[in-house]
Amino acid sequence: MIKRAIYPGSFDPVTFGHLDIIKRSAGMFDEIIVGVLKNSAKKPLFNADVRVTILEGLLKEYDNVRVEAFEGLLIDFAKKMDANIIVRGLRAVTDFEYELQIAQTNRVQYENLDTVFLVTDLNYSYLSSSIVKEFAGFGGDISKFVPASIIPMIEEAIKNKKEN
Ligand code: ADP
Repeated sequence: MIKRAIYPGSFDPVTFGHLDIIKRSAGMFDEIIVGVLKNSAKKPLFNADVRVTILEGLLKEYDNVRVEAFEGLLIDFAKKMDANIIVRGLRAVTDFEYELQIAQTNRVQYENLDTVFLVTDLNYSYLSSSIVKEFAGFGGDISKFVPASIIPMIEEAIKNKKEN
């Protein structure tokens, strides 16, 4: 049986922390589907299609990784993709309680679904998409947080957001 895993998130924007989890999980499973969540509570910096395009560009050398946008329940997306593994990253204890609750809820609803947690690389344990947005919003250098190729897009989107 193919080991197909979903790595879901908002990726608004994707960071080196996310990319590290994707690369490591691509070595552990046959296929990784990066699931880009459309129905975020907050108004995103980039719409889901743009986030998908950005991720595809950054991940094109990984033959067993593909990127799909989704909305609604993760369990429904997992069923649709015929995947029974969810990958999530754990940065700190603060992530744990929430992640545990979500993983257990998903398993109650869909008993074939297992959640696997990868512990973040020490270099990225402080890093989140919100930090990137906040830092860039004040004109900070985000080159330690995200790939150089996407910095201009992020800066432009933040500038446009401020003007609106
Ligand atoms: P969500 O909005 O669902 O938290 P994110 O895009 O922020 O989505 O994160 C997606 C996943 O990546 C989550 O499992 C999160 O814990 C993990 N993650 C986020 N930042 C990092 C990081 N710096 N290192 C490792 N994992 C991370």
